[in-house]
Amino acid sequence: MTSWIELKDSQPVAVKMLQNSITRDRIAHAYLFHGPSGTGKHEASLLFAMRYFCENKQIDSAEPCYECISCKRIQSGNHPDLHWIEPDGQSIKKEQIEYLQKEFTYTGLESNQKVYVVRQAEKMTVNAANRLLKFLEEPSQETVAILMTEHIGQMLDTIVSRCQRIQFHSLSDHHLYTRLVDQGLPESTSKLFASMKLNVDQAIEMNGDEWFAEARKIVVQLMDKVMNSSEEGYLFLHQVYLKHFQGRESLEYGLELLLMWFQDIISLHLDKRDSIVLVDQFERLEQFHYVVSLSEAKTLIYEILNTKRKLAQNVHPTLAMEYLILQLQR
Ligand SMILES: [Zn+2]
Repeated sequence: MTSWIELKDSQPVAVKMLQNSITRDRIAHAYLFHGPSGTGKHEASLLFAMRYFCENKQIDSAEPCYECISCKRIQSGNHPDLHWIEPDGQSIKKEQIEYLQKEFTYTGLESNQKVYVVRQAEKMTVNAANRLLKFLEEPSQETVAILMTEHIGQMLDTIVSRCQRIQFHSLSDHHLYTRLVDQGLPESTSKLFASMKLNVDQAIEMNGDEWFAEARKIVVQLMDKVMNSSEEGYLFLHQVYLKHFQGRESLEYGLELLLMWFQDIISLHLDKRDSIVLVDQFERLEQFHYVVSLSEAKTLIYEILNTKRKLAQNVHPTLAMEYLILQLQR
């Protein structure tokens, strides 16, 4: 379980705002946690709820005790007064909010305190959002809503303006790397995913993905071909590469990996060894940086980015990749 102190390292402003509202007893009726996936919105909502319901809370600290029954129940996902709402199909419907409110009213729990967390809040219908706001404004209710969204621009102004907005920023490569290592991913993989700007969920999924593990190997093989011979890259492209990287999204991953190779070659030329991402390929990188000069590496990065643009513009992938391979071959 993450603590506020740990979360503060990557989200200092968001955590400070929440800690202040807790310790100064200025808890809002509704918060809007917004920002990219994997930036700590979920952890913050759990911490908030734990502190809200905690049986051993200290007035001057925003930390919950983590030990009492309430804290434990939240950690194990079965606290009766903490409810999660997420889209049912394409949207969050008015009936979902009403159902929950009824449940709260009838279950006759000892306190009036309740917390709702609405995931993907931008998917609330107008009616659902209005129902939620009305409920929050009822004076007898000690209810806190936490709305979470990755797409604040898609939310109704009437909702946004009634919530206290807490922004969660994209993690820096370093923070993302640390989080991935904490989650048990190998260091070299964590470095790669952090520099690909994957969010934590995507990175964990990708780590277990056989397709991606194979993709990394194929890109290494392609680099071996294009760095060592002028003919084989083209053949390899057709015989192996394009069979594995099919469809725009997977082709983009391939380009992303290639980009990393040349960025690392540049880092080597500039003697910035700490910036190298493909740490498990150090020997190859060293060998390749004798083959590709600094200015060539910069040009090739431009070519890779250009290939990405072409794919986005629906240029035929085979043509775009053939052209790129011709540029890469030594
Ligand atoms: Zn507690």
